[in-house]
Amino acid sequence: MIRAGLLWLSEQPRIFKFVRANGLARKFAARFVAGETVESGVAALKQLNAAGITASLDLLGEAVHNAAEARAARDTYLHTLDRIKAAGAAANISVKLTQMGLDIDAASCVDNLRTIIAAAQADGSFVRIDMEQSDYTERTLQLFRQTFHPQFGNAVGVVLQSYLRRTEQDVEQMIALGGRVRLCKGAYKEPEAVAFPGKRDVDANYVRCMERLLLRGNYPAIATHDVRILEHAKAFARDKGVAPVRFEFQMLYGVRRDLQLALKRQGYNVRVYVPFGTQWYPYLMRRLAERPANVAFLLGNVMRESLRRN
Ligand SMILES: Cc1cc2nc3c(=O)[nH]c(=O)nc-3n(C[C@H](O)[C@H](O)[C@H](O)COP(=O)(O)OP(=O)(O)OC[C@H]3O[C@@H](n4cnc5c(N)ncnc54)[C@H](O)[C@@H]3O)c2cc1C
Repeated sequence: MIRAGLLWLSEQPRIFKFVRANGLARKFAARFVAGETVESGVAALKQLNAAGITASLDLLGEAVHNAAEARAARDTYLHTLDRIKAAGAAANISVKLTQMGLDIDAASCVDNLRTIIAAAQADGSFVRIDMEQSDYTERTLQLFRQTFHPQFGNAVGVVLQSYLRRTEQDVEQMIALGGRVRLCKGAYKEPEAVAFPGKRDVDANYVRCMERLLLRGNYPAIATHDVRILEHAKAFARDKGVAPVRFEFQMLYGVRRDLQLALKRQGYNVRVYVPFGTQWYPYLMRRLAERPANVAFLLGNVMRESLRRN
């Protein structure tokens, strides 16, 4: 129930307006979001790089309201790629199609993203297309299969979510295509008709899809903080002779930093997803929904800091 409530809150723009004006909420966000500017994102990835961890920068914000906002997001991404290059940082970017204007005009959304991927490709970098709610799954995968992958090959990849019933088939399609996949569990509120309601089924589907991707995928990204699944991935790869250079683990900024460093020390490729930007509220609420104990954890941290300062 708490999860459902937090996910509902993540979709309320009026509440975001109120929350953004509140200093305490910004402190909450700082645990999971690098900051509001490109520079804050670049600073975070420099710190990660210093520990041998690569990154993917994500400009927060989804479902823009008009074409001008979509172009502004595109331009921020182009600037971000320039800053990554200038900093000599080991990082790529993650982009959402609705942020590029998918709901406003599909053709200009494609143009915006093409411009970004072309710039990334010229820098030897990479663009991951994040996966959003299930209403967008088919359109996202179709654009990837028919438009972006044929033009840009390994400079672009997509995300599949194990909570969706369709995902096992999508994994097979991506394997046949040679498309690069990030596998995650899925972060949105979805109806039972399309998604497994039980965590056990979501996890079991994750493991099935992950094994297929480790065996046959094109440099899959195993995006999870689930220790049991991570251990399974390591043992499975070892048993099947899949070398650690053939895949990477991915985690979210501020989540299980101990685990990120431990995996790196064990010789695995680790990439951290680093969100930045002013539109941090829905992202923060999704992170709290994943682990409602975070609400208490974050409140405790903020209280302790305030007491120390006073
Ligand atoms: C790199 C990356 C990219 C992602 N991209 C997408 C995307 O494009 N589309 C999408 O729908 N979702 C995306 N997600 C989110 C993902 O779908 C899950 O919602 C999220 O990763 C939590 O699931 P989990 O696999 O960690 O497993 P869970 O079963 O939720 O968690 C396993 C354990 O991890 C720890 N943990 C998990 N979340 C948190 C948290 N917020 N705070 C503290 N501890 C936590 C806890 O110890 C928990 O017991 C992404 C996740 C990652 C890591």
